[in-house]
Amino acid sequence: SANRPPGAGGVSDEAPDARNTAIEGQAARKLVVGLSLDTLLEERWKKDRDLFKAAVEKLGAEVDVQAANGDDAKQIAQAENMISRHVDVLVVVPHDAEVSAAIVAKAHQAGIKVISYDRLILNADVDLYVSFDNEKVGELAAQAIVAKVPRGNYVLIEGADTDNNAHMFKRGQMSVLQPLVDRGDIQIVYDQFTNEWKPVNALANMRTALAANRNAIDAVIAANDGTAGGVVTALAEQHLAGSIPVTGMDAELAAAQRIVEGTQTMTVYKPIKKLAETAAALAVQMAKGERVSTDRTVFNKKIDVPAVLLEPIAVDRNNIDATIIADGFHSRADVYRNV
Ligand code: BGC
Repeated sequence: SANRPPGAGGVSDEAPDARNTAIEGQAARKLVVGLSLDTLLEERWKKDRDLFKAAVEKLGAEVDVQAANGDDAKQIAQAENMISRHVDVLVVVPHDAEVSAAIVAKAHQAGIKVISYDRLILNADVDLYVSFDNEKVGELAAQAIVAKVPRGNYVLIEGADTDNNAHMFKRGQMSVLQPLVDRGDIQIVYDQFTNEWKPVNALANMRTALAANRNAIDAVIAANDGTAGGVVTALAEQHLAGSIPVTGMDAELAAAQRIVEGTQTMTVYKPIKKLAETAAALAVQMAKGERVSTDRTVFNKKIDVPAVLLEPIAVDRNNIDATIIADGFHSRADVYRNV
């Protein structure tokens, strides 16, 4: 490109601008991938950070990580800061699906591409979306519970309304549940999003669901393991833990332990290593100015975003050893610590 210093660095042919080549007189600098996280206060995102960082470094680039801990203004400010410090590509786990569109606009003004990681940014010209098949996550949870409880009163403890994933999980669940509702086999007696995905909010909602139905509840679909933890606590208060099936997601250690102990029925395991490695490889390609192509897209209310969607895996007591333990996601000793 026109502003590349002649003869400098000789990094790559397709580098779109001087950022990707040597800085005057110095050796070629490493490419920098910005990682903007909603939060590091939940188990899974620490794994994402560590695995993503390791994968990017293995590819010879560096990562600049920032976490906003649920604060939209902070996430935008952190992203702006990374943009002005010239990251070569920005990878974002948005706290709020809509508010974070501002990050994409700002990055694009600076010629920086944006990858939506795990959660989709809505109403924005997102360059790439790397995630799991999130509707399938919801389907797997609902199928597992329907197999155990084909008729009865269902409670849905959904994720955060501000997270597009929460809506996709619910869509997947309802694709399984709605025909049974229509047939009159199951009744959804309580259905709530969980503010900020917080277990304490799920606990409060589950208490309300139990009280409103005089404990006449047969199954609970909890959107993730954190919310499932709140649900199980509320059930335990009524001496019902272990007698009412509960779903989850993320294969968190506490959930894996509840599964072998019998207070949680299943979780949906999303191999984060694969997600982190896939996103890292694509981020480095984009940082180099290389073209990235995918075979599918997901509409984000503005454009069809090129997408890579990985497969989630349903895990219960029967396959926990063959899945999350065999994968080294948790050790057998940790999972079975209390049984
Ligand atoms: C992720 C889940 C996670 C939840 C809460 C969702 O967007 O897909 O894995 O449990 O956020 O952080």
